Amino acid sequence: MLVTNTTTKTASPSALYQSVQYLKGVGPKRCEAFGKLGLHTIRDMLYYFPRDYKDRTRIQKISEARIGAEITIQGRVLGVQTRMTRSRKSILEVFVGDETGTIAATWFNQPFLTKKFHAGDTVFLHGKVGEYKYLQLLSPEYEIVQDAEINTKEGSIVPVYPLTEHMNQAHFRKIMKEAVHHFAGYIDEILPKEIMERNQLLPIDNAIKNIHFPETFENLKNARFRLVYDELFTLELAMALRRRGIKEEKGISFKIGANVDTHIRNLIPFTLTKAQERVIHEIAEDMRSPKPMNRLLQGDVGSGKTVVAIYAILAAIANGYQAAFMAPTEILAKQHFQTMQKYLLHSHVRTHLLTGDTNSRQRKNDLDQIKTGQIDLVIGTHALIEETVQFNQLGLVVIDEQHKFGVVQRLKLKKKGPCPDVLIMTATPIPRTLSLTVFGDLDISILDEMPPDRSPAKTVWVTQDREKNAYDFISGEIAKGRQVFIVYPLVEESEFFDLKSAVTEAKRLQCDVFPTRRVGLLHGKMKSAEKDKVMMDFKEKRYDILVSTIIIEVGIDIPNASVMVIVHAERFGLSQLHQLRGRIGRGSEQSYCLLFGNPNSSISSERLKIMTRTNDGFKIAEMDFRLRGPGEFFGTRQHGLPELTISDLLKDFPILKKARDDAFALVSEDPQLTMDTHFKIRQRVLETFKDRFELINV
Ligand code: ADP
Ligand code: MG
Repeated sequence: MLVTNTTTKTASPSALYQSVQYLKGVGPKRCEAFGKLGLHTIRDMLYYFPRDYKDRTRIQKISEARIGAEITIQGRVLGVQTRMTRSRKSILEVFVGDETGTIAATWFNQPFLTKKFHAGDTVFLHGKVGEYKYLQLLSPEYEIVQDAEINTKEGSIVPVYPLTEHMNQAHFRKIMKEAVHHFAGYIDEILPKEIMERNQLLPIDNAIKNIHFPETFENLKNARFRLVYDELFTLELAMALRRRGIKEEKGISFKIGANVDTHIRNLIPFTLTKAQERVIHEIAEDMRSPKPMNRLLQGDVGSGKTVVAIYAILAAIANGYQAAFMAPTEILAKQHFQTMQKYLLHSHVRTHLLTGDTNSRQRKNDLDQIKTGQIDLVIGTHALIEETVQFNQLGLVVIDEQHKFGVVQRLKLKKKGPCPDVLIMTATPIPRTLSLTVFGDLDISILDEMPPDRSPAKTVWVTQDREKNAYDFISGEIAKGRQVFIVYPLVEESEFFDLKSAVTEAKRLQCDVFPTRRVGLLHGKMKSAEKDKVMMDFKEKRYDILVSTIIIEVGIDIPNASVMVIVHAERFGLSQLHQLRGRIGRGSEQSYCLLFGNPNSSISSERLKIMTRTNDGFKIAEMDFRLRGPGEFFGTRQHGLPELTISDLLKDFPILKKARDDAFALVSEDPQLTMDTHFKIRQRVLETFKDRFELINV
């Protein structure tokens, strides 16, 4: 499979870093247009991959057309004609001929197409053959080919590039051809030889040539394999180096003996589940070790992560260190604070809540206490990572709902201590693909068991015509003493969306639907003190119904609330729906999740169906990832997903695993990549990922 380099060398390797303007056909104007696509140097060009290919390998003759079969032909336009049917529909017929015959391409009611075809044009057509008075292709796929392209056309697999509207594929292809021809040979091979051989990878210059202008689909496949491997191997090397780097730092070796253990357990009011025991054991081992802990704890909503965190926190404090606990929202930080206070009632731990809105006098005082070590445990929002917050002896960092925070924030908090242990918790189970990439440097613990006496929520999809029945059902549950969440996608009505909103609907529900019940309202535009009051009132059963927006998504713990209604459920992502559903089913009563939804796409109805079928957060996360793709899964780029130019984490998962094994093996053999044969790959990893992953000691 290894093919030798056939490109002629005409310039020096630094030629790759010359401006694209160096290429024939690229003047200042085009140079600017290319710049907008991120194409500045010739190397950028070579690494700008097609988004698709046109298969011209099987062009048939018109004489081979058989009625009912599909056919791809190439021919010249002989004539163009537009007619009207009796029912006043327009019919466009383009007559096309090759040396074996003629055929008509026919479109109904698309008069704008008329202008596109001119006698003498060369066209490709692909479609199903029919017959009217003569042979026809009904609404075929078509491509009109400029002469420029026919001349440069060599292979019959034609690349299609992601270009902007005003750019022309044919011209771009021609320039690319030029770039590949003259410069592909100067791309440095960075992969060590044994890795190339073991994986039977194409040499890089050959891969670049074949990703742009493959002669066969087999070549294209091999080229893509090589380039995907390249990208994922580099990423996994960064992960391997980072993991190794962290492990080489000198961390704290906490002493967690029987004494400390018993002491902590005495503060926990229930028997731990087996899963909690296992995870606590894993964490305690990490904390005892002088290597810093860097662990991700995954557990579905309600699986009992908080108490695991408490164990770690108390162990750190028992050793004379401080702990920091960061939550993504104020409501959550406050709730955690209250929970912790409950657990710690009979201990001497000094706990403090730090959020954005403490007044500045008070705040200065608080900060002093944290700095001088008079406070053991600080719970807060991202206010914790502000520079003014300094610790005396930070030994442990716990981050809740990690996917809401970026990698950068994670690092900032960690830096507040000399080398604290880090525990990250998430209720959004991470699909395997992502746990190997975004979280590839973390050790992973999983809580895969729910505390006893939980019955999973029953989930029902309520269509519009059944909403009234649902309201009756809700009334019945309230009569039994239960409380109800009703969630809307918007705070207030908007002229842009035809959606119900929390503010308007809260009024309507109170006046028209549940006049004898107490309806509360909670949303993100309220002041934080107001929000707290409403939450408190709901917790203390002063409301039967809480109308809200997505802000109640994570963490809120109100065991008496047993019904979750989600209106316009089709507007929410799967993980969001699952998180919302996780707000109920926390008490011993049977709980219900009602999804009001009228989906208008198959994807959104698929989501609702999945919700009614499973309560398994891991399954849901995997499906969500598949439906939405990796980019959207975590919201934004910032959340640590590397930009991949060619790999598709779902499709290329087998390559990812292979690349990961190779990368980790390489780093265990040569921990700093100092061997000569690893010099180039090391350079590449540093160039690509140094800032992003803070590669320590490399
Ligand atoms: P999450 O993983 O979603 O953060 P929590 O830590 O908030 O879950 O726990 C959910 C609820 O389950 C809490 O009310 C908690 O007190 C309770 N809980 C946790 N572990 C157990 C257990 N082993 N036995 C009984 N109840 C438990
Ligand atoms: Mg939690």
